[in-house]
Amino acid sequence: MTAVIVETDRQGAVSVPSIESLAIAQELGGPVTALVTGAETARAATALAAFDLSDIVAVDDPPIEPGASTTLVSTLAAWIDAAQPELVIAPHSYSARDYLPRLAARLDRPLITDCLGVRIDNGARVFTRPLFQGKLVADVVLDGPSPHFATFQAGATRADSARPATVAPRVTRRSPTIGPDATQVGVEPPFHDTSRTIDLTQADRIVAVGRGLNDGKHLAMIQELATALGAEVAASRPVCDLGWLPLDRQVGSSGQTVAPALYVAIGISGAIQHIVGMKSAKTIVAINKDRDAPIFEIADYGVVGDLFEIVPALIAALKGGHSGNT
Ligand SMILES: Cc1cc2nc3c(=O)[nH]c(=O)nc-3n(C[C@H](O)[C@H](O)[C@H](O)COP(=O)(O)OP(=O)(O)OC[C@H]3O[C@@H](n4cnc5c(N)ncnc54)[C@H](O)[C@@H]3O)c2cc1C
Repeated sequence: MTAVIVETDRQGAVSVPSIESLAIAQELGGPVTALVTGAETARAATALAAFDLSDIVAVDDPPIEPGASTTLVSTLAAWIDAAQPELVIAPHSYSARDYLPRLAARLDRPLITDCLGVRIDNGARVFTRPLFQGKLVADVVLDGPSPHFATFQAGATRADSARPATVAPRVTRRSPTIGPDATQVGVEPPFHDTSRTIDLTQADRIVAVGRGLNDGKHLAMIQELATALGAEVAASRPVCDLGWLPLDRQVGSSGQTVAPALYVAIGISGAIQHIVGMKSAKTIVAINKDRDAPIFEIADYGVVGDLFEIVPALIAALKGGHSGNT
């Protein structure tokens, strides 16, 4: 059995990366149990019941306060001892980075973090994860007795690939396990980030631009296309390194991993460090003047040509007008 530790907000809404983790667990085969803790677990359990799961375990009697990681670790350790899952998966979130290493260390079991994917090869689970700041992508097989622990990057798969329920999962409620260390961590009020950062992982459509743009002054054209498509603007690393767009718009191994419904790559060559960040997009459209550019190997639709001709034509078509170049 694979267990997925589901994260919710304070209103009980299940996070998109948690649904992606469910999809990854389903893809591995075998029964999947979702564990949900925190506030409003009843709402979360109702949302989770829409997915193909064998069990939903809700720890809500009383709920564990978000950030109370010592109680969370004791609770999960007790449940794992009893349920004996083979694999425990969680999204690679700030909170998982806090509690999961402690949980794995307490149970003396291996943890692999920040994974891009997992596959079964000759009966073994092979995890892929970036190494050396994304210079390499390694295949990793974990050793030793189960359970093994793994976290997955947001966008490692698409949330809409999670299989819907055919029969209703069994829902059980549990009380938290309060260990002797429960008072060692105090929870402060939630932190509010004042700087405006963009979460590209939540974008349904992305228009990404690369060094082929030649100069930041042409970004207005890219923004116009994005607006016409109802998309967010993203970029390859050189565009952010050159200061044409802020770093939080970067997609790739040292930027964000995204899985939108539509990804339009404009003037992007398709280096591996970029591809690992967007290859899970449902539909990829590439515009590049070099017909041998590697981006075309993963594109669903490819346009070979000059972006300065194609993008204005696309904008005109989307706005229902005419372009002199088409
Ligand atoms: C440790 C490390 C981490 C990295 N992390 C990232 C990362 O997170 N994200 C990332 O993107 N990269 C990353 N890189 C960089 C990566 O290796 C590539 O250098 C980068 O992705 C290339 O960006 P690009 O495709 O925009 O530029 P280029 O490779 O220069 O490609 C530009 C493309 O534009 C096309 N073009 C030019 N003019 C036109 C035109 N007029 N019309 C149409 N097409 C045109 C060209 O044919 C070319 O294919 C990383 C590298 C390292 C070493």
